[in-house]
Amino acid sequence: MNGHLDRKHAENDLISNLPIDNAKSEVVVWLARPMPDYSIGVDLGGTNLRIAAVDKQGNLLEKITLGTQVALGRDRVVNDMCDAIQRLAANYHNSSSLIGIGIGVPGIIDMETGMVHESPNLPDWADYPVRAEIERRLGTRVILENDANSAALGENWLGAARDVEDMAMLTLGTGVGGGLVLGRRIWHGMTGMAGEFGHTTVEPEGALCGCGNRGCLEAYASATAVVRMAREAIVNGATTELSRAAGSDPEFSAKAVYNLAIQGDEEARKIFRRVGRAVGIVLSDLVNALNLPMYVIGGGVCSAWEAFAPSVFEELRQRSMVYAATAPEPSNSQGASARVEPSGRTKTIITRALLGSDAGLFGAARLAMLNGA
Ligand SMILES: [Zn+2]
Repeated sequence: MNGHLDRKHAENDLISNLPIDNAKSEVVVWLARPMPDYSIGVDLGGTNLRIAAVDKQGNLLEKITLGTQVALGRDRVVNDMCDAIQRLAANYHNSSSLIGIGIGVPGIIDMETGMVHESPNLPDWADYPVRAEIERRLGTRVILENDANSAALGENWLGAARDVEDMAMLTLGTGVGGGLVLGRRIWHGMTGMAGEFGHTTVEPEGALCGCGNRGCLEAYASATAVVRMAREAIVNGATTELSRAAGSDPEFSAKAVYNLAIQGDEEARKIFRRVGRAVGIVLSDLVNALNLPMYVIGGGVCSAWEAFAPSVFEELRQRSMVYAATAPEPSNSQGASARVEPSGRTKTIITRALLGSDAGLFGAARLAMLNGA
């Protein structure tokens, strides 16, 4: 991803008059080189709206980060997005050609109609013709994709899974997203809704999930679930440490629970073992069903990798005969830095994502390059 060409970062005052207080832009200035063709990727999150120009080699040319003004309504969010896309396109208009625009959106998307069916992070977007609205404003075609699918494609293009053709990804964030990439393309299923691994059942009579089912992976492995499990543990008389952390922090978070876990608090560690168990159960099913060379785990909860990963591998070894037959040497499968070696291609690799929150952004840009290719 990082270029072999000379470049430097610079402030971009072109965007300082954007109508958003927290607009931020990173520009990479290419020195004495012709500008390459590029595509624009958008990652529309519940908190951040990010728009990037990326070239075919995966070099980031420019990135704009805005706050997603969810409370001001979908029209405002779409306007902000389209303004930023047009501004980026204008910057490169004279020097290079725009291949296309890909947009990752949280929620279940109908690929045919370009509608968002359900999006907990964007409550007023249900059944809103988002693709048609964006295309109308921009006067050009755009590709809409589920954000977790985009993240999987990004990790396959430039991240942890760049050496494999086929992979699956779990994104453990506020919710749990999933994506399946086969032959370096997103597997969409019939209507574009494939890969919803976050809503596979890990506890038949378990906690109620936002989707209406009980015991989904999302109800045990998301940041939201970590906080819920911590509060449940407190109600059930858990350690004073956990209660004290929750009591003193009005925004008691998954990170606070993780901090306790690394300090050795047994109740907090138990919560992350439960996260790992849920992830391990779903991965065991995926490994048995798909026999892919790589499964990538990303999202904010991954900062607690050391706290939950041992349970993931424990479940995999117990529950998946395909994993047992294809697992790498223990030293290679457990650590945070597990990486694929070329010789490891007949092994099942479970590893952390590499691109962090940029995975979806790069994946969205990649969508536009694959379209029609
Ligand atoms: Zn669910």
